[in-house]
Amino acid sequence: MAPKHHPTPLSGGDRKALAKELGKSRAMTSILAAQSADARAKGEALIRTADKLLAESWNERMWADGGPIDPSPTIDQAVGGGYPWLEIECSRCRTKRDVDLAALRHPPTTFVHDLASRLRCSKCAKANRRPPATLLQLAQRPRQAAPET
Ligand SMILES: [Zn+2]
Repeated sequence: MAPKHHPTPLSGGDRKALAKELGKSRAMTSILAAQSADARAKGEALIRTADKLLAESWNERMWADGGPIDPSPTIDQAVGGGYPWLEIECSRCRTKRDVDLAALRHPPTTFVHDLASRLRCSKCAKANRRPPATLLQLAQRPRQAAPET
């Protein structure tokens, strides 16, 4: 990019003032960019807090009353809030399973409650049944610790 041309003022005082203004403006460029990055980081931290609280609110409702499952956080919100695991139970055979939300192929904007009809029990699938999943809790880690890698 060619440097921007500022017409040189005729008077020495005006030239001095222009040089001062240019210096100020160039300094402001990085100051404002740093302030923007700072504000964005704070905003993103607030969003993570909001997502964490939303997951915890849903967990309390599930624990206290077992539903309604709708409204619920989105997959994105649960993962961003630090609750990337969903504990489910097959409504037919009662087999429990921990679902890694981050590994699902569903779009991240999918609501957790919409997964009830989409997550299938493999045991019951072999018996040609497709019972819905009962959603239990969002979790920060799986109940059965994954082997360390
Ligand atoms: Zn089952």
